[in-house]
Amino acid sequence: MSRVRGKDTEPERFVRRLLHQLGYRFRLHRRDLPGRPDIVLPLHRAVILVHGCFWHQHPGCSKATVPKTNSESWETKLNRNVGRDKENIAALRKAGWKVATVWECELTDSKALLSRLSEVLPDLRRRSEHLQALASKLAGVIEGTNLLRAEAASSVVRVRISRQQGK
Ligand SMILES: [Zn+2]
Repeated sequence: MSRVRGKDTEPERFVRRLLHQLGYRFRLHRRDLPGRPDIVLPLHRAVILVHGCFWHQHPGCSKATVPKTNSESWETKLNRNVGRDKENIAALRKAGWKVATVWECELTDSKALLSRLSEVLPDLRRRSEHLQALASKLAGVIEGTNLLRAEAASSVVRVRISRQQGK
């Protein structure tokens, strides 16, 4: 049940898109690794887990509450999730994988997200700076073409005015 729930969530897709934009190659839900981790980057020997704050009980997070009705069975269930996560992470690390956990509530904070991901992807900052530089260069080119257009338009106007005046 938890496997189905945890697969292909919107937060996970968000992180995948970001990594893809930064040029990373990754595999999803590798069955041969403990807990079938969400995102695996074999080249970097890195695993990224994207966790919902409620289901995985993000420590200190306001979303990590236990429902008041049926609280005992909820607590058992949620504790089981947390225990399983700990076991999986320990097993992955033991097998030589670097593991980062991205929490759902961190996705709206790009600084927190980037620093979380660069724990296991040391070249991530360089890549994102490169991408930003490219974006601003592109913006400069677009602005440049607008300037050229504006100049061309104003010279047409100038020619018209001078013709009218010369008459
Ligand atoms: Zn959280």
